[in-house]
Amino acid sequence: MVHGGRVTDATQPENSLAPGLYIVATPIGNLGDITLRAIDVLKRCDGIACEDTRVTGKLLKHLGISKPMWRYDDHSEHRDRSRLVESTRDRAVALVSDAGTPMVSDPGYRLVNDCRAEGIPVTVLPGACAAVAGLALSGLPNDRFLFAGFLPSKEKARREMLEELSAIDSTLVFYETAPRLIKSLTTIGEVLPDREVAVARELTKLHEELRRGLPAGLIAYFEAHPPKGEIVLLVGPPPERVASEEDADAMLIDALRTMKASQAAAQVAKATGVDRKTLYARAMELRSA
Ligand code: SAM
Repeated sequence: MVHGGRVTDATQPENSLAPGLYIVATPIGNLGDITLRAIDVLKRCDGIACEDTRVTGKLLKHLGISKPMWRYDDHSEHRDRSRLVESTRDRAVALVSDAGTPMVSDPGYRLVNDCRAEGIPVTVLPGACAAVAGLALSGLPNDRFLFAGFLPSKEKARREMLEELSAIDSTLVFYETAPRLIKSLTTIGEVLPDREVAVARELTKLHEELRRGLPAGLIAYFEAHPPKGEIVLLVGPPPERVASEEDADAMLIDALRTMKASQAAAQVAKATGVDRKTLYARAMELRSA
């Protein structure tokens, strides 16, 4: 048996799964990325809750599995969700999304919470996730990253979200659609022009592509080569702090030759990552010396 944990129930007929909810990750493109454990649970469960029965039906057909499917998303009627929770009391129900890991910008959150509240066992079968695959392929710093779902489609909200995230010392990971890529890159270029950006497209598929550069260069590339398919957009962390105070001081002295103290502090802060207020105080000191 390829799965671990509490999935075999001695009170059930041989080969059936213990009742409960099984969160099952599925491939994000390449069907070879299904896990052995996912196949096992999909074969042996009593039914599958899914976003779109046509999409999941194709995966099941590929695997040679035939199971009852129930459409589920977090907007499903409360009554439908309650019914699904009830059925997990004496049946093994697998939860899948169209692709990747359920609940990562996909439905399932309410269902898992309701099962937990009812004391129903919940088991997770990890697997493909576009955010993690994109992060790995990008080569951007990954000791810390923040996944923020989709950027808003409205320009003002998108800008506000990027401004809010700009101070975070982590790689930022977003889901994106091809038609909106240039708009998002443009806002990133305006709010975070010096950040290294990566566009991970069609991960695990035939036309997998990774492009990395500053926002302006990526905009020029994708204007010339309009993107297609699915995209993970990543923004590298703020530039590292300068190694020495002397370097920042020298840049500040130079900037003060042509700029007001506040402008000089802002420019040096952007270039070095040193706190703007600290630099402003130092600029005032230099001016009065
Ligand atoms: N739950 C899924 C997961 O674990 O990756 C994500 C679902 S979300 C609704 C769909 C978004 O994920 C797409 O718009 C795209 O941004 C990203 N995505 C999914 N598959 C992808 C792939 N093969 N390559 C790049 N991005 C992908």
